[in-house]
Amino acid sequence: MADTSVIELSENAVKNNILFLKKQFGEHVLISSVVKSNAYGHGMATFVPIAEKAGIRHFSVFSGNEARELMKIKRAESTIMVMGWMDDQDLVWLVENGVEFFIFDLIRLDKVVSLVRSTGRTALVHLEMETGMNRTGMKPGDLKKAAGIISNNPGFFKLKGLCTHLAGAESIANHVRIQKQLSRFGRLCRWFEERGLVPDYRHVASSAAAITYPAARFNMVRMGILQYGYWPSSETFIHFVSKKRDRHDPLNRVISWKSSVMSLKKVKRGEFVNYGTIFLAQEDKKIAVIPVGYSHGYNRSLSNQGRVLINGQRVGVIGLVNMNMLIADVTKLPDVKVGDEVVLIGSQGDLTISVASFSELSNQLNYELLTRLPEGTPRQVVN
Ligand SMILES: *Cc1c(COP(=O)(O)O)cnc(C)c1O
Repeated sequence: MADTSVIELSENAVKNNILFLKKQFGEHVLISSVVKSNAYGHGMATFVPIAEKAGIRHFSVFSGNEARELMKIKRAESTIMVMGWMDDQDLVWLVENGVEFFIFDLIRLDKVVSLVRSTGRTALVHLEMETGMNRTGMKPGDLKKAAGIISNNPGFFKLKGLCTHLAGAESIANHVRIQKQLSRFGRLCRWFEERGLVPDYRHVASSAAAITYPAARFNMVRMGILQYGYWPSSETFIHFVSKKRDRHDPLNRVISWKSSVMSLKKVKRGEFVNYGTIFLAQEDKKIAVIPVGYSHGYNRSLSNQGRVLINGQRVGVIGLVNMNMLIADVTKLPDVKVGDEVVLIGSQGDLTISVASFSELSNQLNYELLTRLPEGTPRQVVN
């Protein structure tokens, strides 16, 4: 391979995961596939066509920039929704291109009116309400004014959605807070509907809430981490399987990350390996240099900790993870050669390195590790 490592996406895994989620939620729930942050590091341009093949027709991103990127990739019939940041130019572009977006305060709402009304297009808006997360979301005191502005501009605003975001449905510790948010949301939806503002969609749930709280599904869910084959937390997974007879993980991980052995070397007992003194060879060692480092997304905190697969065996990372290289202890692999495949995440033979095990070692969440995989690493689709 020309690049130092490659990221493979499994088409079958995506199909499996989407099918599983559709079965869980039922036909009346629209799945919006969340592909912000380069599709959680999977690569938006590679992931989106696979998701479309698996039947997805609605995608969520964070920013106007991501929406522009996605517009070049997606099928004509797929819809985009921006959940977060957009500047003034983005706003005009979003409306002109039929992209849906969140309105989370009066300033944003006023901006839409002042910047875009002259275009003569319809703004497809999701009104995000504050229900207890205390991040973005329209404050209750502003709702009357917001409802007034939307009602008074019927040709201009189309109320696609009423929505909110839950403050941590992946942990049972937040149960009471989540329940409060859900009942507030229900009350606010009724308030809007009594004023004749009936949205096409009501949505509050990301992965954790959608899988754990059926009442949070309404008719749309914003599906991130689960579609990539990861559970939002081990609590969420345990909660899910504890009610099932079959305790298998129904999800398949989509990503594999592979490199190859760049160089091999023998090191004598008593020598230090790589920078400094963090690894001392206590016996004669054979080491493999792998051209992946922290600049490629392999966290530095995996120094002396990480595990990789070579020749079907699990071997340890020794010494510091450098900017572009790491070193694995291949003393117990007699046949290892330069060019042999190295699996950083994924399977080789019967063994697997999961992002979860990786993240436990480095105290990174799945989310963080995945989204830090650089855009420049090539992505490939495999079965
Ligand atoms: C990122 C995000 C999601 C998806 O979260 P997951 O836990 O990955 O499913 C849903 N909604 C909003 C507003 C988000 O920012």
